[in-house]
Amino acid sequence: MRFSVLSLAREALTGHRGWTPTWRDAAPRDAYDVVIIGGGGHGLATAYYLAKEFGIRNVAVLEKGWIGGGNVGRNTTIIRSNYLLPGNEPFYEQAMKLWEGLEQDFNYNAMVSQRGVLNLYHSDAQRDAYARRGNAMRLNGVDSELLDRDGVRAMAPFLTFDDARFPIQGGLLQRRGGTARHDAVAWGYARGASDRGVDIVQHCEVTGFLREAGRVVGVETTRGTIRAGKIGMAVAGHSSRVAGMAGLRLPIESHVLQAFVSEGIKPLIPGVITFGAGHFYISQSDKGGLVFGGDIDGYNSYAQRGNLAVVEDVCEGGMALMPMIGRLRLLRSWGGIMDMSMDGSPIIDRTPVDGLYLNAGWCYGGFKATPASGFCFAHLLARDEPHPVAAAFRLDRFASGHLIDEKGAGAQPNLH
Ligand SMILES: Cc1cc2nc3c(=O)[nH]c(=O)nc-3n(C[C@H](O)[C@H](O)[C@H](O)COP(=O)(O)OP(=O)(O)OC[C@H]3O[C@@H](n4cnc5c(N)ncnc54)[C@H](O)[C@@H]3O)c2cc1C
Repeated sequence: MRFSVLSLAREALTGHRGWTPTWRDAAPRDAYDVVIIGGGGHGLATAYYLAKEFGIRNVAVLEKGWIGGGNVGRNTTIIRSNYLLPGNEPFYEQAMKLWEGLEQDFNYNAMVSQRGVLNLYHSDAQRDAYARRGNAMRLNGVDSELLDRDGVRAMAPFLTFDDARFPIQGGLLQRRGGTARHDAVAWGYARGASDRGVDIVQHCEVTGFLREAGRVVGVETTRGTIRAGKIGMAVAGHSSRVAGMAGLRLPIESHVLQAFVSEGIKPLIPGVITFGAGHFYISQSDKGGLVFGGDIDGYNSYAQRGNLAVVEDVCEGGMALMPMIGRLRLLRSWGGIMDMSMDGSPIIDRTPVDGLYLNAGWCYGGFKATPASGFCFAHLLARDEPHPVAAAFRLDRFASGHLIDEKGAGAQPNLH
């Protein structure tokens, strides 16, 4: 069923009895051409583009919980393509271009809002680093503007400029960045894939791999054995565990990242703002709540909840930037499990196990990547060759030394 003004009017006049479920809650079949493990944003987007762009429709997405229950429904919804390094920038810009046409493409309101992403700088050295990043973006045809202090003040007069411990000197602005409603992105991709014949199977955990002559030919699940021509892993924070079932040890650690939402207030924050002297980022949801976050908790965990030390650290960042935030009440907080890679950049590649493909290592930033990640993973699964914009995201770069270390932090997942 297509959403349009006409379908809305028709349903309004007929008592809203004709709406169909957003996607088909399928039971697993015995075999598929492609099985995707993980019904998060990346798994669903992969299935959508496999069906839509590559004509491969005999596909199942196997999700151990429910659609939207993982990181895709837990993130702070920021989308942007303000990257420095050649391996990353074209890929994230491809994602941004897909975001810009996404709602028309999958005929679903994902509330994509290009309200701007502003990274604040607080020192001359940080200004120079942002100028370099902004120039790298422009060389790749991506929009960026370096604002001085007055430029930032005009956009966000409520920030502390004068008596702060880390006075704001300016900011790097990407106007095309912004936010998207995270769970609607999952639902939109699920709907688009399901409409094209993909089976979305919830409550179906993959517990092992079926192997014949060294090749994976299927998966064992809590709902029986399913054979597959090819298998794609897109399980985010569970990547090491699922890969371990195939005998692979990945350069990935799982860490908790928390997010916070305040009570709703009148419109205050124009876009996304990040603090440059600590790890704190904030935006305002369309319902009025301030949505913010900071660092990962800093220890390995598979628990979807964090601890109080990071709550305090995040709130300190907020107070340093805009002390009036201290008068707000916190409504909710939650955690998600991040697949932190050793260089902070993702992996979209074949694995050494024949028939098994990997999409992982998204760290803090995988939501904004969702459309391009799905597109490029579908390309790899369909054609057995990497998409040009994702060609650097190889698994063997950790052996060869061709790392994509955007932050220059070294092999320290807790610092990426
Ligand atoms: C608090 C927080 C804030 C964030 N903020 C941002 C942000 O502002 N911008 C941004 O770009 N990124 C952000 N991220 C990161 C982003 O959300 C993730 O990188 C991205 O969602 C990961 O990809 P995914 O959507 O496919 O993951 P998920 O939604 O986690 O999908 C993986 C799925 O695999 C399933 N699974 C795991 N094991 C199995 C199994 N054995 N069998 C079957 N299914 C399995 C899981 O249940 C899960 O549903 C944030 C993350 C968190 C937690």
